[in-house]
Amino acid sequence: MRADKRKVVLVGTGMVGMSYAYSLLNQNACDELVLIDVNKQRAEGEAMDLNHGLAFSSSNMKIYAGEYRDCKDADIVVICAGVAQKPGETRLDLLKRNAAVFQSIVEPVSASGFNGIFLVATNPVDIMTRITCELSGFNPRRVLGSGTALDTARLRYLLGEYLEVDPRNVHAYVIGEHGDSEFVPWSQAMVATKPILELCGDGGHSAPVCHDKLDEIETEVREAAYKIIEAKKATYYGIGMALTRITKAILGDEHSVLTVSAMLRGDYGQRDVFIGVPCIINQNGIQKVLTLSLTDEEKEKLGQSCDTLRESYEGIL
Ligand code: NAD
Repeated sequence: MRADKRKVVLVGTGMVGMSYAYSLLNQNACDELVLIDVNKQRAEGEAMDLNHGLAFSSSNMKIYAGEYRDCKDADIVVICAGVAQKPGETRLDLLKRNAAVFQSIVEPVSASGFNGIFLVATNPVDIMTRITCELSGFNPRRVLGSGTALDTARLRYLLGEYLEVDPRNVHAYVIGEHGDSEFVPWSQAMVATKPILELCGDGGHSAPVCHDKLDEIETEVREAAYKIIEAKKATYYGIGMALTRITKAILGDEHSVLTVSAMLRGDYGQRDVFIGVPCIINQNGIQKVLTLSLTDEEKEKLGQSCDTLRESYEGIL
């Protein structure tokens, strides 16, 4: 990775892709951004629009609509291409439609000589990440999905509000499928180093209310995407910022812990599945999957989520 020129190629310049691009620009997160879309005119228009904002930004990013050959020297290829979730449609319903789209993307990216890191946002993201890994033949540590990064951010925000604590001091994760079987391992949720379950008996929060409220927050996080889609047809700002955070962790070689979709290779007793778990992210992609000390019940929930994803993946073979 070259410290002097951080190059990102974005495939899919729809709402999610462009929210990501806009966030990259505003956070000055890379030096060169290439936009690719099956609708080339759209990619060109988006590049023009972003370039016209450069004079107002603190960035001198080079932004242009490009071709798959531009992936050759990229650090990261981010895939946001696909079909958006329709109201009432589950993420897994999208699978077959998006699998065909990915074949037409991953093959030319790999053929360009690309030797960086794939980052996937398209839903169902855990399965699309696995498909990207299979199609590219890359080491799984260099293929990651946005996983439950956004869900975890939603959880930390809601817990921060409820507990009246800065969300940056809330250490809690949503793990599992980015979808209906995701869950919060509450045994591992902390405010600073204090377990949140222990806080339930403390101060202003009476025990039963606290536990009910935690369940409520977990449900709200799980159903957030459905609610937003119902209200405004799609979700994009939050995921755009989550992708920017992951990009910065990679390009900055940060060794940050983020809940991305990673291949499990014996971690949590699971294998042959990409799923959202806390991982240490650096310039090589996933440096390490962190294995949390889950309770037996939480391990079972994670196992069920893995089974759901394996079944869906096998459904398209
Ligand atoms: P969108 O319809 O606005 O954009 C999709 C873009 O993909 C379009 O510009 C389209 O032309 C392009 N595209 C389609 N086929 C292509 C191909 N073969 N090659 C190149 N480009 C192609 O959709 P959106 O709202 O931006 O959503 C994109 C994806 O992101 C969806 O799958 C959605 O479910 C997902 N998403 C994921 C998360 C997450 O947390 N991971 C959150 C929100 C949305």
